Amino acid sequence: MDDYKLPIGGTDYPRTLSEFDEWFSSESDCLDFIRKLRWPNGFVCPSCKGTKGWQLSTELIRCTQCKRKVSILAGTTFHGTRKPLKTWFQAMWYVTSQKFGGSALGLKRVLGLGGYQTAWCWLHKLRHAMIRPGRESLCGTVEIDETLIGGEVIANLIALVTNTKRLMYLKAMISLMF
Ligand SMILES: [Zn+2]
Repeated sequence: MDDYKLPIGGTDYPRTLSEFDEWFSSESDCLDFIRKLRWPNGFVCPSCKGTKGWQLSTELIRCTQCKRKVSILAGTTFHGTRKPLKTWFQAMWYVTSQKFGGSALGLKRVLGLGGYQTAWCWLHKLRHAMIRPGRESLCGTVEIDETLIGGEVIANLIALVTNTKRLMYLKAMISLMF
């Protein structure tokens, strides 16, 4: 996407947990944030492209041209959710602030979600939403932050590898690491 610009911390998204709490202290704060992301230059009706609308509620806008009621959440990950947007925003904060993206179990525990299945579903939706459309493949020199290989993981890997060639390759890799 040619018009994609990198978001700026403190302007486009909160940088710290205290900023997060300030920015998203209520449901209407969350709705306002979504509205700005969705229509950065003001409301645009998805049906007739009209740019004027009446605010019917914090979530609904009626297009003055075609009279259609447009939900700010329609077509978003949050459409039809029965949980507060604030909880979704807290989930996003959790997932994006964890070094390894968080886990369903962690999400369930931190947010007090009802069950593991719900947490897993949320995590799946958020991970899917974080994929930037039209992203290009990595190229040039690619640096990886860090990885952890060793101890029982290596032992278990060796136990699982039955193919002799793969085992030899693995042993060669291990010898290079230590
Ligand atoms: Zn319209």
